[in-house]
Amino acid sequence: MTLKKYINKKDFAKIPEPQGTLSQAHEHLFVIQKHAASHLHYDFRLELNGVLLSWTIPKGPCFDPSIKRLALHVEDHPVAYGFFEGIIPKGEYGGGTVMLWDKGIWHSLDSNPTKAYQAGHLRFKLEAEKLQGRWDLLRFKDEKHWFLIKNKDEFAQPFDHYDVTVAKPDSVLSQHSIAEIAAHHQQVWSEEDALKAISHKTGLRNRTKK
Ligand code: MN
Repeated sequence: MTLKKYINKKDFAKIPEPQGTLSQAHEHLFVIQKHAASHLHYDFRLELNGVLLSWTIPKGPCFDPSIKRLALHVEDHPVAYGFFEGIIPKGEYGGGTVMLWDKGIWHSLDSNPTKAYQAGHLRFKLEAEKLQGRWDLLRFKDEKHWFLIKNKDEFAQPFDHYDVTVAKPDSVLSQHSIAEIAAHHQQVWSEEDALKAISHKTGLRNRTKK
């Protein structure tokens, strides 16, 4: 049986722990960029259908399943942007200092992640440097307002015991703090630079230039 046929026959929603080739079929880039703009926030991005679906999380992620973190849905970003760390000039969209705060893979636990996204409920597993385990993004009220919620699993932790934004504040790319990036980085965002960065720094997937 080919992998494609096998995938078509499976209901991923019923599989708690996708393994091996099955999970690879549903693997996509996941990043969080810590962004010191007018207010510090965390930009949560999931690759789907060739773009980074994006949510701004003012307080950042939380490993406590009893705490819902507000996630404001914002416009899609190019996949290349997900590898960026550095400065966006003042006055430009997103102006400020950007840190690559977490990077890894997300596995959809929905058989059709595009449909799940449109329906306002994404269920997924994260394998990244800081975030792990089962999470949900759940829409409420309107198109913009979502919650990021940690599910109960072996990675869940009470907030008063563990705040990942405090325990692990720095970059997964450079190990720098926001202040260090702001002070020392010469890197200014351009899509061309990001495309170069992809070909050098990641073996995640082959991406073609436009
Ligand atoms: Mn931002």
